Amino acid sequence: MTLRSRYSAWNLLAAASKGDTNWAPVWREDEPKLRYDVIVIGGGGHGLATAYYLAKNHGVTNVAVLEAGWIGGGNTGRNTTIVRSNYLYPESARLYDFSLRQYEHLAQALNFNIMFSQRGIVTLAHSRHDLDAQARWANAMLCNGIDAELLDARQVQELEPRLNFGAGARFPILGGFIQRRGGSARHDAVAWGYARGASALGVDIVQSCSVTGFLKQGNAVVGVATNRGEIRADKVAMAVAGHSSVLAGMAGFQLPVTSYALQAMVSEPVKPVLNTVTLSPSLGAYWSQSDKGEVVIGGALDHFPSYAQRGSFDVMQHVLAATVEMFPSFSRLRMLRQWAGIVDVVQDSSPIIGATPVPGLFINCGWGTGGFKAIPVGGWTLAHVLATGHNHELAEPFQLQRFHTGRLIDEAAAAGIAH
Ligand SMILES: Cc1cc2nc3c(=O)[nH]c(=O)nc-3n(C[C@H](O)[C@H](O)[C@H](O)COP(=O)(O)OP(=O)(O)OC[C@H]3O[C@@H](n4cnc5c(N)ncnc54)[C@H](O)[C@@H]3O)c2cc1C
Repeated sequence: MTLRSRYSAWNLLAAASKGDTNWAPVWREDEPKLRYDVIVIGGGGHGLATAYYLAKNHGVTNVAVLEAGWIGGGNTGRNTTIVRSNYLYPESARLYDFSLRQYEHLAQALNFNIMFSQRGIVTLAHSRHDLDAQARWANAMLCNGIDAELLDARQVQELEPRLNFGAGARFPILGGFIQRRGGSARHDAVAWGYARGASALGVDIVQSCSVTGFLKQGNAVVGVATNRGEIRADKVAMAVAGHSSVLAGMAGFQLPVTSYALQAMVSEPVKPVLNTVTLSPSLGAYWSQSDKGEVVIGGALDHFPSYAQRGSFDVMQHVLAATVEMFPSFSRLRMLRQWAGIVDVVQDSSPIIGATPVPGLFINCGWGTGGFKAIPVGGWTLAHVLATGHNHELAEPFQLQRFHTGRLIDEAAAAGIAH
């Protein structure tokens, strides 16, 4: 921190402690109008990015984002913030790497610090089978033009010396692979940055506005009913993650989405103890350290569908057992918080981006446990189809239609665990 910025930080603190109320809001809090060109339901990262790219890339600014709660209060503000593009199939590789490349410049594009940190993501191998599967996975990434390096056990130990390399380790670490461009970003900042960018371009951001039904003319959607009245629009898009099937039900069609709770937790803040994002698919857990020093711990989905944003005890127990198994010194950490979000799981672990069977209604969903990293591309491609009427080429393979044609893109393995 330079002397000058230290003084301005001090001035900000001094102003805050005096109760200064002259802060410029990061985005406008708008009253809903009666009509828009496009309504986006859901003020998570995907909805906000859709609105931002509608305005930025296509000049469509008569847009409202309607959010039932508060901006980023859904999964976007609840996730473990891991960003990567280590997918298996070419369609997914293209999609997620486009997103990662947007993340690499997002702070500059939005002029908002999203605290992006490319510290590398390490996937651990505990068996010969894991090593073989990861060699195939890393080779597929290289064929798709994405960085990947296989690691032997010594290289993993150099990266993460606190991992359990003891002779009696129950899950010996035989090696792994790393995507060095993977890492993390600050979740709230991504939501706020897109909200600020969209608002500056003229988009209305309406919080505490819950969509309770769709207005129809014949079969086509022509607006929404909300707790703040009816709002009409030429096109309506929904990006509501775990609530996608609820809204699809309101619109009169079914989605191949099952909603599950996915939980995460953080420890008390400690000095730097982790260098990378580390993931053990076999144990069902992953770890990183936030800039505040908290060890961020995530794991698998609950075993049953639910809309309860809690996370079940057995998954918590499993994830913590894996944590002390892999990092024995973490047994002395005190846990600070645990929480969950409701994620939208599709049977091939790939998203749905595009038209629905209902004319006028478009969708972005099915990101399941891994849609934070996809916020830029989810918004970019949904905005494209809304503005042009044509699917973006990156989104073409991810149409709802694939569940009829059988052209699934089964990324279950490369979806890792829950990030
Ligand atoms: C614990 C956890 C860890 C995760 N870790 C990672 C990770 O490390 N990396 C990664 O890439 N992904 C991760 N994910 C997944 C990621 O968080 C989601 O895929 C992503 O945030 C989805 O963004 P979204 O904008 O689609 O949904 P959300 O952020 O959930 O936004 C949807 C919004 O829609 C609103 N809404 C719902 N119904 C209505 C309605 N009727 N009217 C108006 N608004 C409505 C909700 O209030 C919500 O704010 C994790 C998820 C969880 C829960």
